Amino acid sequence: MTSSGNDPRTAELAERLAAVTLRIEAATAAAQRTDAPRLIVVTKFHPAADVRRLASLGVVDVGENRDQEAAAKSGELAGVDVRWHFIGQLQSNKAKSVVKYASSVQSIDRVQLVDALAKAMAREQDGTGRADLDCFIQVSLEDDAGAHRGGASPADVEVLAERIQSAGGLQLSGLMAVAPLGADPEAAFEKLAGISASLRSVHPAATAISAGMSQDLEAAIKFGATHLRIGSDILGSRPAVG
Ligand SMILES: *Cc1c(COP(=O)(O)O)cnc(C)c1O
Repeated sequence: MTSSGNDPRTAELAERLAAVTLRIEAATAAAQRTDAPRLIVVTKFHPAADVRRLASLGVVDVGENRDQEAAAKSGELAGVDVRWHFIGQLQSNKAKSVVKYASSVQSIDRVQLVDALAKAMAREQDGTGRADLDCFIQVSLEDDAGAHRGGASPADVEVLAERIQSAGGLQLSGLMAVAPLGADPEAAFEKLAGISASLRSVHPAATAISAGMSQDLEAAIKFGATHLRIGSDILGSRPAVG
């Protein structure tokens, strides 16, 4: 790892990253898990310079939720060795742009988007060694599916999984979810673990569970999250205007 030198922002990020890493280790131990969840640092609204600082601190996975911002930052950081994960609502007409920089799309919530990503990947992989796109189905954990925080209804997961599985250039990784606002995150992530078990009974390789944000990472780890998406506890609060 590179030292933080005299840059106070790098020192601040290092300190916050260390604190979150400790929380993850404690929760992983408490859950008696031997597999460490993967940390995706969500850098939305923060400048490319912060991604560069995080990379110097050993961060390899970053998350973004808007194509315009992610495309600009990943372009600026072309030589920096990080993987970009797309975690926001995605319009189908942005698929072509997103596959140029993203190693995963975690917010797949409809068949139309699967088809758009498959088409974009066919173009992207034509004559290149471009790896398949890791695909996560975003599932809604709301009682009123999709009402607030996005995602497909649990009943639609299997149709989406089949579609991804049968498309070229797409790899079915598993599920992504956001805990409903104001509800018990443990209950939500327990429900997600159940949906994941059903998915794996048909698609054994689709083992990923992307769950857990700054406020609820412990609950997510307890219920089997394999990927955590942590923003504000590492980067600080987001500027109001991005
Ligand atoms: C912003 C965001 C996160 C990170 O949330 P924090 O509370 O800042 O840790 C995680 N997942 C998604 C889908 C997000 O949009």
